[in-house]
Amino acid sequence: MLTVKTPEEAMEIVLDLFPAKETPAESIALRQTLGRVLSCDIVADEYVPCFDRSTVDGYAVIAADTFGSSESIPSMLTLTGEVLMGEAAVGKLNPGTCAAVSTGGDLPECSDAVVMLEHVGIYGDGVIDVYMPAAPGNNIIFKGDDVKPGDKVLAIGTVISPHDIGILSALGHTAVSVKARPIVGVISTGDELVEPEARPGRGQIRDVNTPMLSTAMERFGAVAKSYGIIRDDEKALSSVISKAVSECDIVLISGGSSAGMRDLTARIIESVGEIIFHGIAMKPGKPTILGVIDSKPIFGLPGNPVAAYFVTELFVRPLIARMMQAEVRQHMVNARISEAVSANHGRAEYIAVKYDIHKGTAHPIKGKSGLIASLAGTDGYICIPRDSEGIPAGAEVTVKLF
Ligand code: AMP
Ligand code: MG
Repeated sequence: MLTVKTPEEAMEIVLDLFPAKETPAESIALRQTLGRVLSCDIVADEYVPCFDRSTVDGYAVIAADTFGSSESIPSMLTLTGEVLMGEAAVGKLNPGTCAAVSTGGDLPECSDAVVMLEHVGIYGDGVIDVYMPAAPGNNIIFKGDDVKPGDKVLAIGTVISPHDIGILSALGHTAVSVKARPIVGVISTGDELVEPEARPGRGQIRDVNTPMLSTAMERFGAVAKSYGIIRDDEKALSSVISKAVSECDIVLISGGSSAGMRDLTARIIESVGEIIFHGIAMKPGKPTILGVIDSKPIFGLPGNPVAAYFVTELFVRPLIARMMQAEVRQHMVNARISEAVSANHGRAEYIAVKYDIHKGTAHPIKGKSGLIASLAGTDGYICIPRDSEGIPAGAEVTVKLF
């Protein structure tokens, strides 16, 4: 008997059963951190920038020297020299003097504003004409304007982006402490499966799920450990499952998850662990099993690749994030559906869509759920709730992006 849960119930059970646990931290080189999860807050211990800098190409001045200046009555300032990029400004400004400075350059002592190149006249005689008054602070980014010591610049659980790598670099964090990635075991089972290298004969198909799910796990922030194709044989499957349970934090078994005679997954989980539920009221993805062996989550996924993908996207992805205490961001867009979609009553339906950014439309990719080509090239998915009869063409939908 299938004990069927709604997707919401299933999600709650998954997260309740496997609460966030302290995953160990490891220190890695900054350039390796993209997509990894920060294991501690990053608090600045330095000023960024560490000196007052010009934000324009122009002349460092004493603002008061320029008060009242205009095109017709410019202030005339004596040029004392040029601040070189990458070097400290030499000397200080006396009233009536200025120094040339480039964008990002240091400022001489006593200067409190920079006038833009565009607002001065240069005649090559060591004196410049300033045509516009500058207020103190004009065109300067002050020491610590970006970051000051004690500022929390990144929080624990941040999934590190190139922008985050930027600020880590600015603060000199060349080694970063991140959460260890959970290891997800990926097992495919089915007598009809052959390796992708092989040419399938009649009755056979290439294994889609091992490469697809393994790489999905990598994208979701985990490490995938593939166990290849296992025959529909209780002994063989049972022994690879126990190996995977001992080596991994989560185990995915695709194929054989229905309640039929040849479907071994449930029987094996039951014999060595516990089945939490068998069946989710979703389409595709109904014959999904959640089990526990040695307190580790075991997912029995439908063999059909689209269903297997949706179940991992919906349930395994959040679990991986939860294990690393990662902050999850689901990117979404609103779009108009390009054609009507009908739905089954009684099951939440997940439909992959192609999102057209120019037209603002979502094109639903329909097809039997076993057709893997229907997922290729899609950008995200929409969900039609179980009590809905479908969506008329042109209606607004929320697309969750993959
Ligand atoms: P099952 O869940 O074992 O009943 O399989 C459902 C359907 O998915 C069958 O048509 C299988 O041939 C197919 N299938 C199972 N495993 C895979 C796989 N690893 N790659 C591609 N198709 C599969
Ligand atoms: Mg099968």
